[in-house]
Amino acid sequence: LKQAVEASAGKTWTGGPIVDGIAGKADLAVVNPATGEVVGHTANTDAALIDQAFTSAAEHQRAWNRIGGEARANILDKVADLYEQHIDELVAMICREAGRTLNDGISEVREAVDFCRYYANGARQHFSKPTVLPGPTGESNELSLCGRGVFVCISPWNFPLAIFTGQVVAALAAGNAVMAKPAEQTPLIAARAVQLMHEAGIPKKILHLITGTGAAIGKPLLDHPRVAGVAFTGSTETAKHINMQLAAKDGPIVPLIAETGGQNVMIVDSTALPEQVVDDVINSAFLSAGQRCSALRILCVQDVIADNLLNMLKGACEELVLGDPSKLETDIGPVIDEKALGMLERHRELMNVEGKTLFAFDESKRPQSGTFFGPQVVEIKDINLLKREVFGPFLHVVRFKAEELEEVIRRINATGYGLTFGLHSRIEGRAGAIFKRIDAGNCYINRDMVGAVVGVNPFGGMGLSGTGPKAGGPHYLFRFANEKTKT
Ligand code: ADP
Repeated sequence: LKQAVEASAGKTWTGGPIVDGIAGKADLAVVNPATGEVVGHTANTDAALIDQAFTSAAEHQRAWNRIGGEARANILDKVADLYEQHIDELVAMICREAGRTLNDGISEVREAVDFCRYYANGARQHFSKPTVLPGPTGESNELSLCGRGVFVCISPWNFPLAIFTGQVVAALAAGNAVMAKPAEQTPLIAARAVQLMHEAGIPKKILHLITGTGAAIGKPLLDHPRVAGVAFTGSTETAKHINMQLAAKDGPIVPLIAETGGQNVMIVDSTALPEQVVDDVINSAFLSAGQRCSALRILCVQDVIADNLLNMLKGACEELVLGDPSKLETDIGPVIDEKALGMLERHRELMNVEGKTLFAFDESKRPQSGTFFGPQVVEIKDINLLKREVFGPFLHVVRFKAEELEEVIRRINATGYGLTFGLHSRIEGRAGAIFKRIDAGNCYINRDMVGAVVGVNPFGGMGLSGTGPKAGGPHYLFRFANEKTKT
């Protein structure tokens, strides 16, 4: 890995559109958020090329569907093999393009591999032969699953390989052709992933890479009459915008599978183990520079343990190393770009007025170049003071009294989001009781709020946090499919 990271230094990659296997022009710079250096080029795919990709995808999708789940699964397993063979190169790219730490990069490639193998198995299990259903005597009755057509997969920059791969591979496994649209900040790793997918045997006419900003290419991409479904991960606002756009366009009624943001809360009561809580809070709030959808944003601590716990937390924050994500000692790398940094800086100013700072990163330790934001902890009066997701290493703390627990739960649900939730408590029965009342997709009890394990602990939320079904879960593939019966 060290060699791959060193070899990647100074190298630039190309991440423009790939239509029918042919790479298009790439003339917009992509920068490394840790240094500001140009690491490659991308492009806004023009409308004519988008149309060409749709036409090609639609023409070949039926053949891809017809080869069946088993044949598709064998190719997807090959994608996983190729990712494993190229893990060092992929980690180095993730680190340079997205500013993710090496540990994050390694976990991310593993997650991408897990997605490939899990959806391959799903294709084998559910898309190879029809399910026989009970029917009237003398009649056979079968239910088959097939691809819907051309699926558009729109992914974010925060897991530039894992989420991109998960969406694309699920759509392919179910028998769809795919228009893959990575985030404009991270098109290079996506282009490399598409190359490896083609090398593994996914037909070039079935998988096209459509690069560009949402503003430049969102409309031609989503207005196209060939769109048969959309998988989206990103902000709640964009998901709503896409939903409206899909509803208004010509063509079929299509599903939107949306995974969006969260306003994630952890409750810590007086029976929690403070050392464990501190470790888990640090991981949950600051790992990946707080740029995980699952990251802890609001810590609710029972008043009787709050002073002690917050002192310990402050001590742990002082140990956090902000810096070069390609160095093993780094805990927190940069945030993705200037826009993200600006939003965090404005939020810090707001919190200086509306909250009480418990920990502020020592600015003299902030790297001189790159978009770095040091971890912050502020105490606020009310969970519902935060109206939007704050995407970065920024933790808010709210104290509560024992008798206010019900009200805390009510306010958590009142955020309208429903992604992750954490609880630290050793009171018998409390976890079960709260679990029933909290509207959140992933609840973590007496542990950190990190880790969605494909096939084990699938990830996704409800309400403002998304439509479900969960990525990496047993129901995900079905949403990409049409059902047909033969009686
Ligand atoms: P984030 O705040 O995480 O960057 P966005 O929702 O802006 O979230 O972006 C997530 C993905 O959605 C990116 O690939 C982005 O380019 C894409 N996107 C943004 N706006 C649109 C749009 N209007 N139409 C289609 N895709 C969009």
